[in-house]
Amino acid sequence: PSEAVMAAQIPYLAKESFPLCMQSMYHRLHTDAHLKHNGRLQLGLFLKGIGLPLEEAMKFWRAEFGPKCMGEAFDKKYAYGVRYNYAKEGKRTDYTPYSCMKIIQTPVPRGEAFGCPYKTASPQELTEQLRAMRLPPRVVEEAVSKARGHHYQLACTAVFQGQHNCICESGISHPNQYYDESRKELT
Ligand code: SF4
Repeated sequence: PSEAVMAAQIPYLAKESFPLCMQSMYHRLHTDAHLKHNGRLQLGLFLKGIGLPLEEAMKFWRAEFGPKCMGEAFDKKYAYGVRYNYAKEGKRTDYTPYSCMKIIQTPVPRGEAFGCPYKTASPQELTEQLRAMRLPPRVVEEAVSKARGHHYQLACTAVFQGQHNCICESGISHPNQYYDESRKELT
């Protein structure tokens, strides 16, 4: 991405342009002021991919973890992980955001918020989540039926098309592609 994204922009960008997996993780983080390791990794790398610089990522995670985990507590428990995503710690590998395939194939323990919701959510939960996005009922039905048939990326593509009122010929194969194409449609 050409322009850096600021922490303060994340709430509206999430609503407008995050795919459901990232919306769900962000929602869970925001509601619980907590997100477990795999979620922090998947959401953190996605945010790096949309252009959130390290300093802004620190600001974002600090604010989301809230008053219960400030200052030293945050530094001890989570700052390392944020820097790790940006390859400032550990082996300093430049970690790239996960593709849909990788997210779909990673097993999700019960109760955790990461993974692809088209795979992990029940049809009822999925319907509720999609309705909350104010999608037309036929789009919700189409996506839920595709998800039921294990066509998770096609379900996601149907939602993208419904949300942006466009045709996405290439289909969705990466959360960051979803985001980039959404920004192109909207700006
Ligand atoms: Fe995320 Fe990909 Fe699943 Fe869409 S298909 S919700 S982008 S993992």
